[in-house]
Amino acid sequence: MSDAADARPAQATLTPPLTPPSKWSKLGKDKEETPADINIPDNYVAWTLKNQKALPPISWDNWWKELNYISVMVLTITPAISIWGLCTQKLRWETFLFSVFYYYVTGLGITAGYHRLWAHRSYNASKPLQYFLAMAGAGAVEGSIKWWSRGHRAHHRYTDTDLDPYNAHRGLWWSHIGWMLVKPRRKPGVADISDLSKNDVVRWQHRWYIQLILICGFLIPTFVCGLGWGDWMGGYVFAGAGRLCFVHHSTFCVNSLAHWLGEAPFDDKHTPRDHLVTALVTIGEGYHNFHHQFPMDYRNAIKWYQYDPTKWFIWVCQQLGLASHLKVFPDNEVRKGQLTMQLKRLREQQEGLRFAPDSNDLPVISWESYQEQSLKRPLIVIAGFIHDVSDFIDQHPGGPHLITKYIGRDATTAFFGGVYDHSNAAHNLLSMKRVGVLHGGTQHGLDDKAIPPAQRLRVARYSELSSPNNSAWSDGEGLLG
Ligand SMILES: [Zn+2]
Ligand SMILES: [Zn+2]
Repeated sequence: MSDAADARPAQATLTPPLTPPSKWSKLGKDKEETPADINIPDNYVAWTLKNQKALPPISWDNWWKELNYISVMVLTITPAISIWGLCTQKLRWETFLFSVFYYYVTGLGITAGYHRLWAHRSYNASKPLQYFLAMAGAGAVEGSIKWWSRGHRAHHRYTDTDLDPYNAHRGLWWSHIGWMLVKPRRKPGVADISDLSKNDVVRWQHRWYIQLILICGFLIPTFVCGLGWGDWMGGYVFAGAGRLCFVHHSTFCVNSLAHWLGEAPFDDKHTPRDHLVTALVTIGEGYHNFHHQFPMDYRNAIKWYQYDPTKWFIWVCQQLGLASHLKVFPDNEVRKGQLTMQLKRLREQQEGLRFAPDSNDLPVISWESYQEQSLKRPLIVIAGFIHDVSDFIDQHPGGPHLITKYIGRDATTAFFGGVYDHSNAAHNLLSMKRVGVLHGGTQHGLDDKAIPPAQRLRVARYSELSSPNNSAWSDGEGLLG
């Protein structure tokens, strides 16, 4: 909630830079302009997590010493004022409508401004739009653009590690609000914001931040309701404090709910998830699985029917000439992510099924031996495979006589259309009854009949595919042999 929040613990000294000094090292005199991550060691994350001292875990003995009092006050007094207002003040419909409207204005200040414009640079905004978003965002009372974006960039860069300030692996409560109520246990991982330090609007907002939160968070809603329809107290309590509670928890849900509830249609390596409910409560930031995969995309939702008012707002601003260079990730790459996840799910389904035994695992049996054995149990040859049909004779839809007639014979032609052109399901079921391979193999041209339909298209891992690099493919002489 405040700039003091990431001031502790003191930054640990890093190992000597592994990268040679670059042109940026010479810019050291202007610290703000030097990218913060220019000289970090290649093993930064592992090294920092191992060597940087973290504050002790919160316990019953120390919690009161570890509280971040400014955040605690902001996050408890605002709801207290709202509850008091609900009990003592009449909520007028004009004030209610304005509160909802102002919720969207200040919410968009965070989602379209802080998040998609400044933290992710997903589009360019004209000066008037930047000032509007900087003020609207200040009205959401969530820290300055600079502080917020710095934490958010660390969140993306170190997702699900302790260098992520709102690491979702520490639980729903921690990622929602817990991380703000106590002093940060670690300094967030390094993330460069030198671009923001050069931005006039960001500097202006940082400089006047306290004044701006008072004006945009409380004075504007109070004055609009007071001058508009004489509801000064309602304006302060409902459009000011009450609306602020909703904006706060709406944004917090992006760190908690969006890393907990829903599907991972693009990648499941980390916790971000997509869910309509999260989108509804966060002004469209609920397609968070997409967002973490393609953070520089100005959209969170890619389908027209998905709820993403922040995207619509940015698009309208573009139509009005206030925004430009809206970034969209190549559709081909987005669909690759979706396909990967679909294949992964299909692979799981595939692994849950039983398929015909591998022909390499079956015994090779001569025609004579087949004749002999089929006197003892019902065996039938189809497409070069010997099948034991003992548990199927009575269930055969065409009647048992059509099966018994072929015991000890080759029924390939009859099975594939000669008598009846069997369904794919019948072929799949037949393949499960394979007990041997007939010596001499199948006739040329029967190859496709030897593969059951369910096994003609399968999901295979790259390591299972035959390739010139795969030992299964090599004849041992090497490609250049
Ligand atoms: Zn996230
Ligand atoms: Zn983000």
